[in-house]
Amino acid sequence: MSIENKVIFITGGSSGLGEAIARHAAAEGAKVFLTARRKDRLETIVADIEKAGGKAAFKTADVTDAVQVKAAADAATEAFGAIDVLVNNAGLMPLSPMGKLKTDEWETMVDVNIKGVLNAIAATLPDMQARESGHIINMSSVAGHKVFPGAAVYCGTKFAVRAISEGLRAENAGKLRVTNVSPGAVNTELTSTISDPDAKDMANNLYEIAIGADAIARAVVFAIKEPDDVSVNELIIRPTKQEL
Ligand code: NDP
Repeated sequence: MSIENKVIFITGGSSGLGEAIARHAAAEGAKVFLTARRKDRLETIVADIEKAGGKAAFKTADVTDAVQVKAAADAATEAFGAIDVLVNNAGLMPLSPMGKLKTDEWETMVDVNIKGVLNAIAATLPDMQARESGHIINMSSVAGHKVFPGAAVYCGTKFAVRAISEGLRAENAGKLRVTNVSPGAVNTELTSTISDPDAKDMANNLYEIAIGADAIARAVVFAIKEPDDVSVNELIIRPTKQEL
């Protein structure tokens, strides 16, 4: 029941949940490899982890670009050995009612939250299947369980992530572990991409009860720590005060 020396590849590692998972897993002895677009943030996080005695490295990549994501996964394997765990976490949430027709934001959400998740799976799954060993952790949301007004497209992407997790688990039963993680409101930079003022107000109200990112990091590390014959399929973690 240890994650010592496990190689964990984390997308969206430059802030919020990805950063918290990286710091928590590294503190418990895992080798963490981070990817995201903001190089300065990744550099700082990796330097902090190393200063604390942990093992970490990074390569920048835009998850919407399959070639860049594969290059990052290859760099992780080169740095630390085969990837044991993919934390498929990069995502954004520019909420708005559909009637506002923010079609560019719809497209970005589909590209990052769905295609980005698929790109990271494509970059890591073949090697895991060849080794018949590995763990894929996909970051869905409570928005992948329930649809909220003003969040139709975001919810659509998170329902898709949950469906992809289910399919991946069924196809690889007995060989790979797949965990679908559904956080509620967590204090991160997630709401920063909301451009619609009404949706921003709604999110600001909801996020008054947000919990810290470390709650999700603890849950993810718990799922990784379980022995290979135990698969934690679903995790829903939200503020006690939040209705699902
Ligand atoms: P943050 O905004 O803090 O982090 C988002 C991360 O995704 C950043 O590291 C960002 O890195 C990365 N990212 C965004 N776009 C791209 C891209 N095109 N290519 C590569 N990386 C990208 O928010 P969270 O930590 O909260 O979000 C992480 C995940 O958790 C998301 O999938 C989100 O939907 C999910 N989630 C969050 C909840 C919350 O309340 N916080 C609740 C439920 C789910 P960079 O900008 O450097 O590229």
